[in-house]
Amino acid sequence: MNLATLKRDIERLDKQHKEAMRRKKELLKQRAIACSGCGKKSRISSWSFIQVTWAAPVFSCNGGGHLAYAVTEDCSIRCPKCGKESDIFHHPAKEKILALLTEDFTAEDLFGKYEVRHSSY
Ligand SMILES: [Zn+2]
Repeated sequence: MNLATLKRDIERLDKQHKEAMRRKKELLKQRAIACSGCGKKSRISSWSFIQVTWAAPVFSCNGGGHLAYAVTEDCSIRCPKCGKESDIFHHPAKEKILALLTEDFTAEDLFGKYEVRHSSY
């Protein structure tokens, strides 16, 4: 096997990998979550994900605070059917949501809308 053949193999596998990841993402987006408010199920791709951020205090002497991102559990999701917002930490589907976001994709990739909310503390 020569280098040119190997390069072609790698390119082919890269393409297959990208295509498989694209399909995996589409399947994950179709997973349903039930709302704890109205009880209706909706696909991940129609829920909104609310990423919470806050200004992190300055610890070092070289200054400059920065924007910190809350972990998934401390963020919220909003039901597309009734508009109820629920924090993921107390959501009945918490484990399902957390598992989805370890499958190579971010909330931005899977959810219908991605919002960033600045928290004051
Ligand atoms: Zn609802």
